[in-house]
Amino acid sequence: MISPIIDENTINRLRALLNGVQHIVITCHKSPDGDALGSTLALCHVLRRLGKDATVVTPDMAPKALEFIPGVRDLVVFIKHELRARHLLSEAQLIFCLDFNAMQRIDRLAELIAPLKAKRVLIDHHLEPEDVFDLVVSFPEASSTCELVFRVLMQMGLLRFLDRQAASCLYVGLLTDTGGFAYSCDNPEFYEIMASVMRRRFDRIALYNRAMNTFSADSLRLQGYAMSEKMQLFPEQGAALIVLGKEELERYNYSKGDTETLVNKPLAIPEVYWSVFLREDADRIKVSCRSQGDFSVSDICARYFNGGGHKNAAGGDFTGTLDEAVAMFHQVLTDLFPGDDQSSTTDQQEQQPQ
Ligand code: 5GP
Ligand code: MN
Repeated sequence: MISPIIDENTINRLRALLNGVQHIVITCHKSPDGDALGSTLALCHVLRRLGKDATVVTPDMAPKALEFIPGVRDLVVFIKHELRARHLLSEAQLIFCLDFNAMQRIDRLAELIAPLKAKRVLIDHHLEPEDVFDLVVSFPEASSTCELVFRVLMQMGLLRFLDRQAASCLYVGLLTDTGGFAYSCDNPEFYEIMASVMRRRFDRIALYNRAMNTFSADSLRLQGYAMSEKMQLFPEQGAALIVLGKEELERYNYSKGDTETLVNKPLAIPEVYWSVFLREDADRIKVSCRSQGDFSVSDICARYFNGGGHKNAAGGDFTGTLDEAVAMFHQVLTDLFPGDDQSSTTDQQEQQPQ
């Protein structure tokens, strides 16, 4: 039995909001991942089947690796189709905000949405959402926003509109936000939701392979290089650090999404329980963190890297040079583990006499 965790009042208000409108925009965080795209596109699809004029507007492009998700080609990408995005937002009577908790996560879309009269509905699973939404469906304990979209549809009695295409979208988010059903999926109801999604009979294996195990040759080579040459281990602090500079990324023809699962890899080492990846992008240092157990990387990202996220998967944007970001990582080590030996195994190897 999938319990109705969203309170009836919220569901009734959402029903009333939906009944009164025709033009709907659905948006999600910048650099959209499988959950952001899966949840927005699934909801959009269902709303269209209900006869609504719904469109997904994203701050920036979907990564190439996720172009297989049904409906991605119809996205209105703000940085690419700015006029169209502005027009849709100005017409919107209702705006769904999916898979983010702070307006800063939607970049320039935030300033466009701020003055609008349209009501904003948040459906999200990140901690501590900002107080800027008219209706809030926020469950940080949920596996994914896709799970919450399913629950919203279920409680609104709209599951009959969840067809094969929308189910495919939800499956991608349920799969990717749990790292392939590895974490954030301890609630048995997660599998009941999966079962209901599976009944829509999409090509699960094809989606699994595209979402979890498809990389370009360049991406695989870059990951191999990062693992063999760039992974530093800090045994006393159970930490791993991978740093990739602009020149290294260019050498492997880096394109967005190529390093998507890299930060998880060091967690395979039994001694490592948190892992940090620093990538030098054009205008910032992208920080990605993962952890296991009670060690919270969202606190670290919030405090040191202008970001946040979930306890075991978080990220941020660091403004400064790559060296400064590395120095900040060392600052984290010193602050969290005062008195420990701060050297990495790579440092020790380098110090050994030849
Ligand atoms: P990733 O490392 O895959 O980019 O992000 C992992 C998780 O961290 C995301 O699901 C998101 O919750 C969070 N996250 C990533 N980047 C940022 C950021 O810049 N700001 C905030 N607040 N959260 C982020
Ligand atoms: Mn998510």
